[in-house]
Amino acid sequence: MDKLIYFDYAATTPVRREAVDAMVDALWQFGNPSSRYEYARQAACRVKEDRETVAKAFGCSPAELYFTSCGTESDNWAIRRGVELGRRRGRHIVTTAMEHAAVLETCKDLELQGYEVTYLRPDKAGHVTVEQLTAAIRPDTVLVSMMLVNNETGVILPVADCVKAVKAFNPAILFHCDAVQGFLKTPEPLAHLGADLVAVSGHKVGAPKGIGALYIKKGVRLRPWLTGGGQEDGLRSGTEATAQIAGFAAAVRASLADPGRLERAAAIKEYTLARLKEALPKLEVISTGDAPHICAVTLPGYKSEVVVRVLGDRGVCISSGSACHKGRPSHVFAAMNLPKPWLDGALRLSFSPDSTREEADALASALKDAAGSLFTTLS
Ligand code: PLP
Repeated sequence: MDKLIYFDYAATTPVRREAVDAMVDALWQFGNPSSRYEYARQAACRVKEDRETVAKAFGCSPAELYFTSCGTESDNWAIRRGVELGRRRGRHIVTTAMEHAAVLETCKDLELQGYEVTYLRPDKAGHVTVEQLTAAIRPDTVLVSMMLVNNETGVILPVADCVKAVKAFNPAILFHCDAVQGFLKTPEPLAHLGADLVAVSGHKVGAPKGIGALYIKKGVRLRPWLTGGGQEDGLRSGTEATAQIAGFAAAVRASLADPGRLERAAAIKEYTLARLKEALPKLEVISTGDAPHICAVTLPGYKSEVVVRVLGDRGVCISSGSACHKGRPSHVFAAMNLPKPWLDGALRLSFSPDSTREEADALASALKDAAGSLFTTLS
């Protein structure tokens, strides 16, 4: 296989060199941040500085930022502990039908425990509106969970306006935002959304897998998620993953030092879409994506699973939706009510600011070859 052509940065990103170096340092410096002697204090100091770095990117205080193992854990903590705070008021949750499985499966589990969940349906372009949300809010609503950037379409949801609308209805309703695909991909720091809880993940931003964070706004008093030795201010016990944290902070630092990254990602996405349309006149765009790094297209009449496999065999990595679908049709595209041939042929492309035109050209020609060699269900 020649050079890997990778257009699946929403699934995961390569670990940045800066992150690897910081992790190696942290691995050699093996002290337990909770130990009392000087050697371990160095490790504690590092975690403190790393928390400050990630908090700076969030636009929040380090005391509002808690490290977790991944975005999924952050979503689970926010939603499961979040609903407990409103227990006396009610058992109603509002979310969207196009959330990631980390949110949807958590909501489904809560339904089994007696919660009622309203799922807002996106329109054909993948948008939900403030009006839809306000119409769904009830006196017994305890939590709203809305993602910032959809991981399959790149659509940005109106989270800040939704927070305002929800808080105007009842400030006690908790607002959780899954910003796993939005962290460092939108110009505004995430704390400015006004949400009470915000989940992010390291491996989407050049950090290793196994690290995430949850922002908990000052004054929101969630019960501890993991009980034990009292790390993470007593809310998530467990010896700090010092190397993972160091890698996360180093990746964040490197992103912040590259202010042109959003424009570069958007430019290469635009170039790629133009090249694809040229090479494959039957290709349709499902969503150009508001976020710079994600878009969705479809080859009506083709099976996206087969296209992805054929390209994969040639070292070209794209996706038929979220990496978590594992062959099942995308619930996001289904919720958008796309015609069946569009749904079957849907492909997600996702970009890095460092993706190149040569890679985009290689993708266009590989996709053209694949389409030429496969049968379509349409004539
Ligand atoms: N939320 C969204 C929108 C995602 O795209 C993902 C991962 O793809 C997650 C949550 C889960 O994050 P993690 O893989 O860190 O558990």
